[in-house]
Amino acid sequence: MHLLVAARTDVGRIRSGNEDAFLVVDDATLVAVADGMGGHQGGEVASATAIEVLRDGVGRGDTIADAITAANDAVYEKAAQDIGLRGMGTTLTAGRLDGSTLVIGHVGDSRAYLLRGGDLRQVTADHSVIAELIAAGALTEDEALVDPRRSMITRALGIDDSVDFDVLTVDLDPGDRLLLCSDGLTTMIRDDAIREILTTHADRDDAADALVAAANDAGGADNITVVVADVAADDAPADEVADDAQAEVDEAGPGEAGPDSDDDPTDPEIEGLAEAAASLGAETAPKRRWWRRRS
Ligand code: MG
Repeated sequence: MHLLVAARTDVGRIRSGNEDAFLVVDDATLVAVADGMGGHQGGEVASATAIEVLRDGVGRGDTIADAITAANDAVYEKAAQDIGLRGMGTTLTAGRLDGSTLVIGHVGDSRAYLLRGGDLRQVTADHSVIAELIAAGALTEDEALVDPRRSMITRALGIDDSVDFDVLTVDLDPGDRLLLCSDGLTTMIRDDAIREILTTHADRDDAADALVAAANDAGGADNITVVVADVAADDAPADEVADDAQAEVDEAGPGEAGPDSDDDPTDPEIEGLAEAAASLGAETAPKRRWWRRRS
């Protein structure tokens, strides 16, 4: 089994900087989305650092769990060493292909979805205030779309010296379509709209573009990142995978994140945009984060 991937990241219509990052390694056996938070440059540094360390760790043969632990350490230590980065953190949702199984590591409110037979299923559980409220029956999904707490997360990578993350597996079938995305998509459009786009755009590049466009049409209040991965049997042309991932690099414009084919770990994976907007109105407030106190 292999993955054929199209990935996009977009600043949205409100923010001046993009704190999201994504990863598609050359053979598309590892894909990830990270959504950074933290003042000034912190968010960009956190998401880019997590992606780099994840890529390097898995590239060395580490398990996804070990690589996420290492990513947490790296972000946490970087924040401790630089007062300008203090308090930064990031979500991370990563999928590593192992035969016909996708091993997913996940912390925060970025998401992995599986589209199979026209049905869309959210594979990951959000570590968010809203998810807890919905689970408790205190909020409907429609209410969640406009709730001011919709960007508050309860867990993130890099804010503490250890991180509590989920590892889950999905058995893949040819024809499945995976979506990894940041909350800039899912706070803007509903799951049924995502499903509609994924099912009506057979071309994954068109699907990725349409998802970003839909989030922007709905307001684009946050950075939007989508990784659309089609699951193919190994008799499909394998080199198409690398070509497809590379195409995203070639197409990446200024400030857009893209996979880096250079193995130099000191070379930043992701180019950051300008620093975050200084002040935004209540309707367009930057992502607010809320942390559950740890005992
Ligand atoms: Mg976000």
